[in-house]
Amino acid sequence: MNLTKQLHETARTKGSKPAYYFMDQSSTYAELDGAVTKFASGLEQLGVKKGDHIALLLGNSPHFVIGLHGALRLGATVIPINPIYTPDEIGYIVNNGDVKAVVALDLLLPLVEKMHPALPKVENYIICETPQGKESGIDVTALSAYSKLKSFSQVLASGDLSFTGPELEDDEVAIILYTSGTTGKPKGAMLTHKNLYSNAKDVSDYLHMNENDRVVTTLPMFHVFCLTVALNAPLMNGATIIIDPKFSPKEMFRLVEMYKPTVFAGVPTMYNFLLQYAQSYGGDLSSLRLCISGGSAMPVALLKYFEQKFNVLVSEGYGLSEASPVTCFNPLDRPRKAGSIGQSIVNVENKVVNELGDEVPVGEVGELIVRGPNVMKGYYKMPEESAATIKDGWLYTGDLARMDEEGYFYIVDRKKELIIVGGYNVYPREVEEVLYDHPDVVEAAVIGVPDPNLGEAVRCYVVKKNPSLTENELMDYCTQHLAKYKLPSSIEFLEELPKNTTGKILRRALKTQVLQ
Ligand code: AMP
Repeated sequence: MNLTKQLHETARTKGSKPAYYFMDQSSTYAELDGAVTKFASGLEQLGVKKGDHIALLLGNSPHFVIGLHGALRLGATVIPINPIYTPDEIGYIVNNGDVKAVVALDLLLPLVEKMHPALPKVENYIICETPQGKESGIDVTALSAYSKLKSFSQVLASGDLSFTGPELEDDEVAIILYTSGTTGKPKGAMLTHKNLYSNAKDVSDYLHMNENDRVVTTLPMFHVFCLTVALNAPLMNGATIIIDPKFSPKEMFRLVEMYKPTVFAGVPTMYNFLLQYAQSYGGDLSSLRLCISGGSAMPVALLKYFEQKFNVLVSEGYGLSEASPVTCFNPLDRPRKAGSIGQSIVNVENKVVNELGDEVPVGEVGELIVRGPNVMKGYYKMPEESAATIKDGWLYTGDLARMDEEGYFYIVDRKKELIIVGGYNVYPREVEEVLYDHPDVVEAAVIGVPDPNLGEAVRCYVVKKNPSLTENELMDYCTQHLAKYKLPSSIEFLEELPKNTTGKILRRALKTQVLQ
């Protein structure tokens, strides 16, 4: 089985069910599956073949869903790219990823026109019409003037509904996800049909996703968290996705009122925004049976306030692009543990090891390693990095963790973000957890900065709720809750913390500012 076959199967058995809602549009499974087939066939007519690479430069939209599954049905490999990347970043991925066709939003047309001389391998650009594009005066129908440009609707219209597509092997690469990493150029994690299908299936089984679910799909689709958890897992089950192009608390509460969704997947900052907004303006999430948190550590205080305020269940999980992504989740039918990423999901093994790769005793901190059908094939065109990351079939995550006697894992921090103060280990997350527990703190990030005496010192960045909160007050509070060597050497108040488009707080960006 693979994603595109499963979508076809869902359409065969539940064809009249709504697959998605998007603004004022909706589509049944039968309609979606038909569009996917036609897009695959239209791509073939443009000369795109099995094994070719197709980049998607798209936000959350039906274009993304049809583009993704259409390319997969043709046997092409999809490379999703964040559409707000700079031309340099896009150019690097398109060239490094040997992309032959680009599917892009019409609003990106000026960028495409500027960039295409620098992208010699691209043979086709497929431009998606949007209402915003139309409002800005972009006329996609005039595109046929350029031989390499076609509109999305032209490709769809030229497709043949009887197209069946080639056989797909389990270990053929379905998606290459470029991950930024902490240093160097982005690396392309090659995820196979088996990787993606197995993870979508295992996650949906673990979280009891079913055809009665309505899932809010607001995380960016180009990111693996959304791709598997909030897009493919629901589509595998005949659930309905509510496609939201851009997260905002106000819009989220509107969607809840309008569609009564049952599942929401978000990163902790989204939970924080929802809570802050509801405290001022009110808001109801009572239709949700499950809130899924992942992507970065959910502060325990935030999880508790959120569950209390909205009377919903929040289950935290963990994953990374290289594992398609999910490896652990808090179970729904056994106790959930706040601060933990839960237990290994079915079919996936997690282990905590020391520097030699040997498993450490229960409760001790080491690197988290993962094995299972979800682990990537390797990094595209990077055999050395691949060999350094996957050893004896185990994926080394670069995250420090510990496991308790009941097999629940706790992420302690990124290995690279550990702060060493005078020889003592300080995990930024530990200090952040204390700060989040302060009633006047909205958000916090902790980094290590060079210190002439101790090697490194702890610096905190805080967004405050109450303007009268002072550095001294917060420092006193930390003194009551943290060992001396973990105490901040300084606390700086900011209006907001730097975040990536997924909403993850970027400690790295704060560190770069300090080092400049
Ligand atoms: P990405 O490849 O962009 O999905 O990023 C994966 C990284 O996000 C992991 O290696 C972790 O460092 C972090 N991450 C994901 N989920 C969690 C979580 N629940 N708690 C802490 N860190 C997380």
